[in-house]
Amino acid sequence: MLNLVLFGPPGAGKGTQSQKLVDKYQLVHLSTGDIFRDNIKGGTELGTLARSYMDKGELVPDEVTIKMLEAEVAKNENAVGFIFDGFPRTIPQAEALDRLMTKLNTSITLMIELIVPEEELTKRLILRGKDSGRPDDSNPDVNGNRIAVYHKQTAVAANHYNSQGKYHKVEGVGDIETIFHSLCKVMDGYAMV
Ligand code: ADP
Repeated sequence: MLNLVLFGPPGAGKGTQSQKLVDKYQLVHLSTGDIFRDNIKGGTELGTLARSYMDKGELVPDEVTIKMLEAEVAKNENAVGFIFDGFPRTIPQAEALDRLMTKLNTSITLMIELIVPEEELTKRLILRGKDSGRPDDSNPDVNGNRIAVYHKQTAVAANHYNSQGKYHKVEGVGDIETIFHSLCKVMDGYAMV
């Protein structure tokens, strides 16, 4: 299997690049943000709980997020690999993901961080908020908090993979195809087994 953690702050372009990577490498894309939003749309209990955090730009508690992610992985037993997008966002999530991969006799192959400066992120989130209808994108205070939470709680997750020799970074500013090409170059350094 090839299991990628696509990492980076809100607005870095993880969702856009994930779609392209899925097409090229036939991986299963699991975006915790998308799954939470589906639950909100479906009016589930999980959706109501997640929303109370997402609306403030806070992280949904680890226990809830990890359980949900495990259930999504279990639904895809024939997958040739996964792209984890928006997960892990904390060290406990990274540790839980390692344990889950071990249980499936596999492991995280690599992490790639998309590097985007903060002022560009803020611009992108506001733009996305205009047509995505995502309430968390439209509010400057919430956006600011999401970026702050990223620095405070999430950025450290990169160290977890760095210490395992699995960390890579790719410039996330430029046109979508150029960024995709850079990602593929890193991906192609790993044998598909
Ligand atoms: P972005 O990366 O642009 O913030 P996402 O769609 O990945 O967008 O996430 C939206 C929101 O969903 C986050 O601000 C957070 O509240 C919640 N969320 C997503 N993934 C996680 C996670 N792994 N752990 C906790 N909360 C999460």
